[in-house]
Amino acid sequence: MRLNRAYIDQALVPGKPFDLPEAVAAHWLRVLRMRVGDSAIVFNGSGIEADVVLRSLDKRHATVEVVAIRDGIAESPFRITLLQGVARGEKMDMILQKATELGVHAFVPVFSDRSEVKLDGERAAKRLQHWRGVVVAACEQSWRSYLPAVSSPVSLRAACAALDSRQRLILDPEANDATRNALPADATDCVIAVGPEGGWSALDLGVLQAADFKGVRLGPRILRTETAGIAAIAALQSHYGD
Ligand code: SAM
Repeated sequence: MRLNRAYIDQALVPGKPFDLPEAVAAHWLRVLRMRVGDSAIVFNGSGIEADVVLRSLDKRHATVEVVAIRDGIAESPFRITLLQGVARGEKMDMILQKATELGVHAFVPVFSDRSEVKLDGERAAKRLQHWRGVVVAACEQSWRSYLPAVSSPVSLRAACAALDSRQRLILDPEANDATRNALPADATDCVIAVGPEGGWSALDLGVLQAADFKGVRLGPRILRTETAGIAAIAALQSHYGD
């Protein structure tokens, strides 16, 4: 039987007890029906995970002790950053969830020429918090120990200026090259840019090309934005990663 797993924003030190966040304690008590002495796994997003034992538990508080620490086993050696045109509501959640399951290293949500979603101020901050929650849940479920970063949504131009990966691909249905041939055989990382529901405009493509992005396509069919990134990530992981 697989042990329960939870994300904890906490340094993990063998032998050191700590209190679980209230929401995690309530979940372990009421939903998972855990008892003092039960074991579980926690991870703090840095790539390591810890075996913990419950030392005390009541309605609001739980204390656990770290009994062992190890590196996580579910990370891909190929680092993919998904630069994603912000999609509406549940579509964006699905993209974050599935791409996390497929091992994406980081997310950069962008506003582009044809973005249908406008977010600023408090709404943007709330949405970002929600997106990070989706990624945490996907890491818990998919046995990842590294938490992919989700950046605050910014303009396409600002996002391009902040990227550090040199291998850069635009998913564009009108490109000539196939995704599978797009990178050098020894590539260890890449950024994939996926347009929002309305696709990339000529202006967006100009911004991306000026930032050294190269167009690739995923076959002759037009995919929805929530399908395109996931398909490209799966193709690249199977070729360059794990
Ligand atoms: N009419 C839009 C167009 O032609 O760009 C369709 C946009 S599609 C719903 C949203 C995004 O998914 C596109 O901007 C692109 O990044 C990606 N995409 C969809 N199908 C694709 C394909 N066959 N090859 C590469 N990228 C694709």
